[in-house]
Amino acid sequence: MRIVIIGSVAAGTSVAAKARRNSIENEIVIYEKDSDISYSVCGLPYYIGEDYIERDNLVPRDSAWFKKRFDIEIKTGHEVKSVNSINKKIEVLNIASGETVTDSYDILVFATGAKPIIPDIKGVKNENVFALRNVKSAEMIKDYIEENEPKTAAIIGSGFIGLEMAENLVKLGIKASIVEEKNQVMASLDSEMGSYVEKELIKNGVTLFKDERAEKIENKKVLTSSGKEIAADLVILATGVKPQTDIAVQAGVSLGTTGAIKVNEEMRTNIKEIFAAGDCVESFSVIDGKSFYRPMGSTANKMGRVAGDVITGGNLKFRGVLGTGIVRVFDLTCGQTGYTEREAINAGYDVEVIHNIKPNQTEYFEGSSEMVIKGVADRKTGRVLGVQITGKKGVDKRLDVFATAITFGAKAEDLFHLDLAYAPPFSTTKDPVMYTGMILENALNRGRKIVSAKELMEKRDEFTVIDVRSSKDYEKGHIEGAVNIPLDKLKERIDEIDKNRKTVVHCNKGVTGNAAQNLLINLGVKEVYNLSGGYKEYKNEIK
Ligand SMILES: Cc1cc2nc3c(=O)[nH]c(=O)nc-3n(C[C@H](O)[C@H](O)[C@H](O)COP(=O)(O)OP(=O)(O)OC[C@H]3O[C@@H](n4cnc5c(N)ncnc54)[C@H](O)[C@@H]3O)c2cc1C
Repeated sequence: MRIVIIGSVAAGTSVAAKARRNSIENEIVIYEKDSDISYSVCGLPYYIGEDYIERDNLVPRDSAWFKKRFDIEIKTGHEVKSVNSINKKIEVLNIASGETVTDSYDILVFATGAKPIIPDIKGVKNENVFALRNVKSAEMIKDYIEENEPKTAAIIGSGFIGLEMAENLVKLGIKASIVEEKNQVMASLDSEMGSYVEKELIKNGVTLFKDERAEKIENKKVLTSSGKEIAADLVILATGVKPQTDIAVQAGVSLGTTGAIKVNEEMRTNIKEIFAAGDCVESFSVIDGKSFYRPMGSTANKMGRVAGDVITGGNLKFRGVLGTGIVRVFDLTCGQTGYTEREAINAGYDVEVIHNIKPNQTEYFEGSSEMVIKGVADRKTGRVLGVQITGKKGVDKRLDVFATAITFGAKAEDLFHLDLAYAPPFSTTKDPVMYTGMILENALNRGRKIVSAKELMEKRDEFTVIDVRSSKDYEKGHIEGAVNIPLDKLKERIDEIDKNRKTVVHCNKGVTGNAAQNLLINLGVKEVYNLSGGYKEYKNEIK
């Protein structure tokens, strides 16, 4: 059998390697139009910003290595121009010689990835404007920086790539600005979680232009929709990617609702002999099977392995994704898995939402720092739908615990029962993951209702707000109209509270608020809410 793969980065090489591991019988050929193969795309922003990362670290293998190790032939500098799926032939252009040859396949795999979306604005082709996608583009940016020593940079877009580029350019001493057309950075997060990222960017000298469209690039300036002029010796386009599907469509391969190639769980397209994997493919949610497109290197590798296995007679199946992602923004780590509140509501769930602010490790232990966890659960079933976390330390570990739990269908109540590792340098006796489950479960099933700052302010007139912090904290700042009754005075001053009115209690982060909530419920106050994430989260959300 002759297996032909188009594309040789994460997905394509995974398909080939798995197919070869399963069987030595088949011919395996990969066509790649680029000159580099099997490289770490994810490392490119750091290659630009960090001295110690060399080209060879990112591109450790070449065609000769694959030939020797796996007997896989990788033809770089060869672009597949068309596919005839009836007679199973492809036309391939040798980019260097200009010659076009015809090849044939028994099995064809599209691993053509995604390409940057280039906004249709004047000046995007200027010599100081770049989009980062492959090693070549990273080298062009590096060379431009070395030769021109830019003092300022504008990054258009604030997704993962935009944020990583901001950090790396600042490290190089370049004054960076981010232009974002939405009213928050990192739009994959709920807005209040994005604002933690915004603060970190500002703290590190990045200037943010939100609610601003880049309209024109000219003479080392980016001009925005509201008429602002942003100094930009260098411009990075980080405005998202789209799946490369042109030749697949021309070959008769069907696309899904997101515009990426539609495959089944075996990575088969609608055409029997054609498979697809990686960024060119539409994925689906582990939670409810709904289609979605969130292209990630981790997913591309997994899809490639499944395709390689199935092609050679294996029974691996792709089980979907949670859209798990993590990014470092200077000293802050920010990650998400599963649905955000916004996505869950759009998907039709009635959601319970909480903010849990906890230290990553025992507070007295050196190096402890705080993380904010936003948990989203389904009110009907109690199932955890998603989590977003920001913090300096320990975010990655919690995110992966949540991703694992959500994958296996955990309900909020299950999280408390996880037997997680504890010693003071690593965690708290009840880990933040467990607390997240407890708060959600208390809200879902134990009458310990939570209200978000946004909801409170929308319906402010309906609530009495009791601030149970010390009077000193209250004096420093408080919610308008809040009554200050510190927790230890709550019982003796209960007569000041109208027991029939909706009451919100809050402390700084939620823990003392929960104690006050318990007390007021026991003292007969009918409807008591704890403010999600306390005054700290209120301050974050309400500007
Ligand atoms: C800067 C950056 C940082 C990232 N960071 C992360 C991260 O931290 N974590 C994470 O999980 N993901 C990250 N990603 C995403 C990740 O890199 C991609 O999900 C991954 O590269 C997808 O692999 P792929 O093989 O599907 O596609 P690609 O990497 O896009 O490779 C597809 C290949 O197909 C080739 N090709 C296309 N059409 C043809 C044709 N007609 N003929 C021949 N060859 C063709 C292309 O030249 C390309 O080399 C990042 C991406 C970028 C750009």
